[in-house]
Amino acid sequence: MTALFVEDAYLSTAEARVIAVREDGGIMLDQTCFYATSGGQPGDTGFLERANGEKIIIAGTVTGESKSEIIHIPAPGQPVPDAGEELVMHIDWERRYNLMRMHTACHLLSVVCPYPITGAAVSETDSRVDFDMSETIDKAEVTAKMMELVNANHPIFTQWISEDDLAANPDLVKSKNVRPPSGQGKIRLVCIGEESAIDSQPCGGTHVSETAEVGEIHIGKIEKKGRENRRFRIRFGPAPD
Ligand SMILES: [Zn+2]
Repeated sequence: MTALFVEDAYLSTAEARVIAVREDGGIMLDQTCFYATSGGQPGDTGFLERANGEKIIIAGTVTGESKSEIIHIPAPGQPVPDAGEELVMHIDWERRYNLMRMHTACHLLSVVCPYPITGAAVSETDSRVDFDMSETIDKAEVTAKMMELVNANHPIFTQWISEDDLAANPDLVKSKNVRPPSGQGKIRLVCIGEESAIDSQPCGGTHVSETAEVGEIHIGKIEKKGRENRRFRIRFGPAPD
């Protein structure tokens, strides 16, 4: 199974061959552009187009036993493809693109608020990021700093490093509870700015390629979740007056 989204987050359609259909109906393909739920980013929806034009609606995408096993979950009542069948994959691009913009916004927030991250979840309309911090912080100020990064249109790119490189640079890891996957020998870094001047951190999600694509965003709310935990909510659009 080749995860095409790892190298190209903008691939919305591609061909694939059915490897197997699981007992639970989950469809396994030889390669996929469907992102599987992971790291707070929901998996893709969309459809598989058969040679006769028939559509198999995909309601969600998840990982199996291992992260490299990607399962496409059909909506109820869909036609069942045959093993070996060639299909064309189509992801719901509008939804995915919003998820890419929101996911990237979370990275920008982690630059503006350099505290350990204890949790995050991305959705099409908003995101939340939990930080291990006790300071009180002004949301308008955070919004202004995030929009500075958006407006500067910094490049975003990925870079592979070895596990040894990561071990030598433990500060790259911002999440407190989630360690990047180990044992595969290499780690994917998501870098922001020329020569990673703004940020770099391990991440397997999908991101836009320039910060300006994030568009206008604001911090909708900062909630106090315990003495040392702050939950930030990022929303699209201008901050309401
Ligand atoms: Zn990411």
